[in-house]
Amino acid sequence: MRATVMYAAGDVRVETVPDPSLVDPTDAVVRVTRACICGSDLWPYKTMEHSDTGRRMGHEAIGIVEDVGADVRTLKQGDLVVMPFAFSDGTCVFCHEGLQTSCVHGGFFGTEDVAGAQADAVRVPQADGTLVVLPVDEDDALMPSLLTLSDVMGTGHHAAVAAHVGPGKTAAVVGDGAVGLCGVIAAKRLGAEQIIILGRHPDRTALAREFGATDVVSERGDEAIERVRDLTDGFGVHSVLECVGLEQSELTAIEIARPGGAVGRVGVPQDETMPAGQTSFYANVTVGGGPAPVRAYIEELLPDILEGRIDPGKVFDRTVDLAGVPDGYRAMADRESIKVMVRP
Ligand SMILES: [Zn+2]
Repeated sequence: MRATVMYAAGDVRVETVPDPSLVDPTDAVVRVTRACICGSDLWPYKTMEHSDTGRRMGHEAIGIVEDVGADVRTLKQGDLVVMPFAFSDGTCVFCHEGLQTSCVHGGFFGTEDVAGAQADAVRVPQADGTLVVLPVDEDDALMPSLLTLSDVMGTGHHAAVAAHVGPGKTAAVVGDGAVGLCGVIAAKRLGAEQIIILGRHPDRTALAREFGATDVVSERGDEAIERVRDLTDGFGVHSVLECVGLEQSELTAIEIARPGGAVGRVGVPQDETMPAGQTSFYANVTVGGGPAPVRAYIEELLPDILEGRIDPGKVFDRTVDLAGVPDGYRAMADRESIKVMVRP
């Protein structure tokens, strides 16, 4: 089969690799019908050191179950399933607490241990706990929105939950990538009254408005902080969704939270330390978040997609086949595209 392999920053290739097969009795093999390129794939695309063996990329997919191991109980050949970016057993203490990204038998796709999903097929460990059967057929018009349940919609929702978004509250979203845009959807869905998007790409902030943003702040740094305070009686917002992961965006996120507010972080942090430790302390700002347990949110978000209340699939503005994946990375890195869908 064909699969996407990254060898170094800027060096993404589509190669022929061995077909995936069942390794453990809890595995499934899924033929990928939709995958995508993630904003988080752009970090290695910018910084990865050369690797002779390369890294098999991709952690978001929908596909058809082709084979299941002897211990798999809830899935059968032919099921259409959505695959969260992390696999999890669904039975351990953390899975029961809704934190599947800390599953004691879990892990992540597109790593050295488990090959990625920007491919014709993927091996899914812990298939019963990980995969969710979709009640539609594989070419349903809702496919782009359903695909966001793999990562970006669940991750935006996690940011909103970690930022304590609730009815009547004010929220700000730092970052206008696909996760930030889904964060706007999530903040509106959870009842935020005012939603400020911080971003500087007009096509993206226009989509944010369509998703429910009430204000756009295109400034950066101190000017952005000042603008958000101007929009909120000088205090800042109750809830900040940090969807970037850079020092500057983390600093802005904490500075625009009002006293007693909360910051939900889902941007993969690029530094070991967090800025503004004293600012968040003296303002009693809660800083939370982390890798989103998107598996925990699928049952909650799926009906909203199936019944048309949210349409996160609009974040996809380009579709490629597998051969087009390297150019898809380039287009996202160059900010030509918000998010690229892959149809193998
Ligand atoms: Zn678990």
